[in-house]
Amino acid sequence: MIDNLPPLRDVIARHDLRARKSLGQNFLLDLNLTARIARAAGDLAGADVLEVGPGPGGLTRGLLAEGARRVLAIEKDPRCLPALAEIGAAYPGRLQVIEGDALEVDALAHLTPPIKVVANLPYNVGTELLVRWLTPAQWPPFWDSLTLMFQREVAERIVAKPGGKAYGRLALLAQWRCDARIVLTLPPEAFTPAPKVSSAVVHLTRLPGPRFPADAKMLERVVAAAFNQRRKMLRASLRGLDPEIGARLERLGIAPTARAEEIGLEAFCALARDLKEG
Ligand code: SAM
Repeated sequence: MIDNLPPLRDVIARHDLRARKSLGQNFLLDLNLTARIARAAGDLAGADVLEVGPGPGGLTRGLLAEGARRVLAIEKDPRCLPALAEIGAAYPGRLQVIEGDALEVDALAHLTPPIKVVANLPYNVGTELLVRWLTPAQWPPFWDSLTLMFQREVAERIVAKPGGKAYGRLALLAQWRCDARIVLTLPPEAFTPAPKVSSAVVHLTRLPGPRFPADAKMLERVVAAAFNQRRKMLRASLRGLDPEIGARLERLGIAPTARAEEIGLEAFCALARDLKEG
């Protein structure tokens, strides 16, 4: 047992927290598992943790038991608040819960660095939140690391290397300025209710700066154009960025007949730099 609070099954029954699909609710009830996810975030002592979607609080309890200095939890479903208040009472002064939509709440105003983000994300907003965290106005971002549960297929897109279907915008965005790896894979039965697919936890740590220099906006434009038409050759998919793109690619040593998924991060950055120069 990681704390003296009641088992999550009892909490859910007592507060009548029947899972709602519209809120992406698939709960983790095994506190050994939530403690493992909390440990995957590294040493939490001395760090503030931002958790999106605490639900009945299984992961929240893992984070607090593993020594997080403070947890700021943002939850959209008001039904979960009484259960979360009980956790707050067991860890005085260490849990703050904000009722609201994580896409709208200004979490930063309530956090003190160093900050780690740890969450079992609702599938419907998970990718959008990740993209926001990866594309702040300035680098380094507010967070030191992101430890996030996704559907396994999304997790694989984040850590993918060139040459396969999983490789694309998410991989490039993530790996440009972070180390990213899958630290845990979970079968559907680990959740209540069980979703249709497996899940995986990705751990991303920020690098001090990009692996290869490039203007962030231009890199995003190039990557979006290349992968929006991923079956096409680059000379066709990137024509909108430069009518003479074929010659430009050749000058940079990139085959104009190659497809986006064959092109590594370094070459995309070189192309973004070249386009930025005009
Ligand atoms: N952390 C809990 C766990 O591991 O058992 C619950 C995870 S469940 C996959 C996702 C949680 O995110 C749900 O509690 C849901 O109500 C909440 N949620 C959904 N959309 C949200 C949003 N836009 N902002 C904040 N929380 C949201």
